[in-house]
Amino acid sequence: MSQPSSSTKQPVKRKALALVSGGLDSMLAVRVIQEQGIEVEGVNFYTGFCVEGHTQAIRERDKNKNKRNNALWVAEQLGIKLHIVDISEEYKDVVLNPKHGYGAHLNPCLDCKIFMVNQATLMLNKARELAGDEGFDFIITGEVIGQRPKSQLKWTMPVIARESGADDRLLRPLSALNLDPTLPEREGWVNRDELYGFSGRNRTPQMELAEKFGLTEFAQPAGGCCFLTHEAYSNKLADLWQARRKRDYELDDIMLLKVGRHLRPKPNFKLIVSREEGENNFLQGYRYQFPSFEVVSHGGPLTLVDGEFESDEDLQLAAQIVARFSQGRTADEVIIAYREPNGVTRELTVKALRPDQIKPEWHVGDSRPEIPPAPVEAEQHG
Ligand code: SF4
Repeated sequence: MSQPSSSTKQPVKRKALALVSGGLDSMLAVRVIQEQGIEVEGVNFYTGFCVEGHTQAIRERDKNKNKRNNALWVAEQLGIKLHIVDISEEYKDVVLNPKHGYGAHLNPCLDCKIFMVNQATLMLNKARELAGDEGFDFIITGEVIGQRPKSQLKWTMPVIARESGADDRLLRPLSALNLDPTLPEREGWVNRDELYGFSGRNRTPQMELAEKFGLTEFAQPAGGCCFLTHEAYSNKLADLWQARRKRDYELDDIMLLKVGRHLRPKPNFKLIVSREEGENNFLQGYRYQFPSFEVVSHGGPLTLVDGEFESDEDLQLAAQIVARFSQGRTADEVIIAYREPNGVTRELTVKALRPDQIKPEWHVGDSRPEIPPAPVEAEQHG
């Protein structure tokens, strides 16, 4: 039997790696490329700032909201394999030291996009190194020109492609017609005529495309899970940096910023007061890391202390604040247990502060303090 000639060789099947946030735009971008018969796998990067399912599981007011991981759900809807990659440690430098600065709050969107596309590019390069043509050929994102201030402008699109190292292996199927043809288009892997030229903040074209694809359920707004775009959250992060006199955080810090009422009566300590049972339960898990207060004589919230008391007056003041948020707020005496992380506990008897003694400026998150300069030793990424 004769060997098959080279002319009968199967054409190489191209494969794309999609950044999947869980929002509609990345969902549509994947579908557009799938429609062209191209295999797509997704990647979702875990930064620590986008954990909506977790937050919604804690708060009573969110009990009816969906607690799913949207990226996983989208992958399941699209029938694609999803890689979830924890970049939370490396991502710190993006948040602490963004070369292109912050958005309206502490959201470093342009640097974040560059970093994520860079991480996807590293995955693509690695896969190509290991599997050659069986690896990924290009990256797709759901970016739409003009959709978001700063990170999704016409001039930032080439910046992201260049600074991430993806160059023209980065294709934005929803806005491709507004941009120069990329490698997958020039090579004919992707038919440019079947891509889109969406731009601006109007979501109608996306809605129409979703309808065309029969997609009726999706997370709105796209990318809305990122806490760095929330004003109060960013203000709390700025307060944390100011109190520690440096920009830095651990994962526990950024989790705790989402939970409880945060009060900073003095620069050296902050109280995290639970507002409901779910938060109480969540904060319980931190009692071995942080000093805490529990109200013994009345019903009351669990409270964590972030920082250190410099005097007995600090301790008394903190206990009086905790009493204010307890059911003993009008009682003559409230017994409060103060517990060190090592379990050593002492009881204090205090009278709750009056409402007018709780100063508005103690409420962390209501205003944005100055943030310390970026860490000097850190090299700017990108
Ligand atoms: S909203 Fe958050 S996740 Fe999205 S680009 Fe901005 S910083 Fe990154």
